[in-house]
Amino acid sequence: MANLHFHYGVMSSSKSAALIINAYNFHRNGTAVEVIKPSFDNRFGIQKIVSRIGLECEANAMPSLEKYTANPNTNVILVDEVQFFTESDIDKLVHIADQQNKIVMCYGLMVDSNEKIFPASRRLIEVGAKLHRMDSTCQINGCMKLATHHLRFDGTGRVIRAGDQFALGDSNYKSVCRAHYNELYHNIKQKTK
Ligand SMILES: [Zn+2]
Repeated sequence: MANLHFHYGVMSSSKSAALIINAYNFHRNGTAVEVIKPSFDNRFGIQKIVSRIGLECEANAMPSLEKYTANPNTNVILVDEVQFFTESDIDKLVHIADQQNKIVMCYGLMVDSNEKIFPASRRLIEVGAKLHRMDSTCQINGCMKLATHHLRFDGTGRVIRAGDQFALGDSNYKSVCRAHYNELYHNIKQKTK
C-alpha cells in the first residue's frame, strides 16, 4: 500500500468532508491519527477543520512543518489544505512517511485561479504520491462537465486574472470546467452545436 497520498480536487469537491470521515473511521478502528493543517499567522495551535456539510474535527495548525515531529504512536497523518505548505514541507512529509513509517494522506487543490499548479502540489507529484482525484461538476448554470479549474470573482462579478495564490476562503471563487474557464478567463467561446 502506498504510504503517501494526495487527494486533490477543486473547491467544493468534499475534500475536507472526506478527510474528517477518514479521521473518524481511523479513530473507530483504533488507528492513531494526527490531523494537521497550515496556519497563516506563524502560530501553532489547535484549530478546526469544518466541511461545508457541517462535519468538523480538530487539527493542529502550524505555519510550517520544519519543526513538526509526529507522535511515535501515530499511524496515520492527515493533512488538510496541503497546497499552502511549501515544497520543503512536502519533503518533510516524505521523510515522515518513509523514515518514520507513517501513512501520510494529503488533501488539497492542484491549481490556482490562474491555472497554475501550487508548488506543494507539484512536489507531491514529483515525489510519487499516489494521486486520487475527487470529482465534482462545474458550478456555472446547469453545466454538467467535470470541474477542473477555479475562477476568482471580485465583488462586481468580474473575473480576477492576476489573483493572489494565497487568498483565503472561497466566497469569491467558483469551481468550473475547462471550457467555462477558457470562455470566462481567456474569452475563448465554446463551440455550440
Ligand atoms: Zn462548465
